[in-house]
Amino acid sequence: MQHVDDVTTEADGVTEMTLQPPDSTCCICFEILSSSGVQQLSCGHVLHEKCVREMRRFGAIGRCPLCRHASDLLTPMQDLIEQASACRIRDANVECAQLASEVLTLDGTNGHANLLLGELYRSGQGVHKDPCKAFALLEEGRSQGNARCATQLGVLYGDYGMNSKAKELYEEGRRGGDARGALYLGVCAMDEGQDQQAKEFFTEAVLGGDAGGFTYMGCLHDNAGDLLIAVSFYEIGWRHGHVQALSYLGSLRRDQGKLDEAVRLLELAQQLGDPEAAIELADIRGT
Ligand SMILES: [Zn+2]
Ligand SMILES: [Zn+2]
Repeated sequence: MQHVDDVTTEADGVTEMTLQPPDSTCCICFEILSSSGVQQLSCGHVLHEKCVREMRRFGAIGRCPLCRHASDLLTPMQDLIEQASACRIRDANVECAQLASEVLTLDGTNGHANLLLGELYRSGQGVHKDPCKAFALLEEGRSQGNARCATQLGVLYGDYGMNSKAKELYEEGRRGGDARGALYLGVCAMDEGQDQQAKEFFTEAVLGGDAGGFTYMGCLHDNAGDLLIAVSFYEIGWRHGHVQALSYLGSLRRDQGKLDEAVRLLELAQQLGDPEAAIELADIRGT
């Protein structure tokens, strides 16, 4: 009999905790819970919305602090950022945009989320293209010291032909440690015919971990007619996962009259999301 009583008491205790009354206190800040500004977890426990936000920003474990029940509402912000980045890599852009937006509701200044969502609004992938939103997001990330945001803001200016402003921002990104800033400065130098300067920037990009430097080094040699060297640089760029290298290699093969190989390379580049490959392919097919 004693045993049964114990079980009953324990069960009542759990029920009481689960149906935590709205006038009880929040277990994070120990202040009174009112009827608004609170969030109920799937386990039934109620916390302040602002306390949940803070918990998620500063390394929550994704579980109710009272009963340890797992809850999506408590997914730590860092997990969301990692999930968003993984989505971007596999081109799941709608999901990436949702996750990055969720991060920004927890912390509007988060540089990585501003970068991801800003890039999506700039390119119109996963969301409706919106340069104004892209600008605001990238500018916010940049003001928080995110060097890649500065570089990508430069790309946005470049989209509108504001090339000197673009270069300033690439330089800012580069100074902040973003290898892509160096890469884009190299592309500008190459377009201006400053091949030696371009080469130095591309080398810097490669040393900073941006494989695009190999690809554009290939372009420099391609332009100079050193096709064998160009091909090997394109191949290295592609081996490092830089999709544009495939497009450039396809164009080179096309110029050599090797159309089958050109089409095969360009189709692969197109499948992997390079818009330039689609244009080149349409051109080959005469459409
Ligand atoms: Zn609280
Ligand atoms: Zn709970």
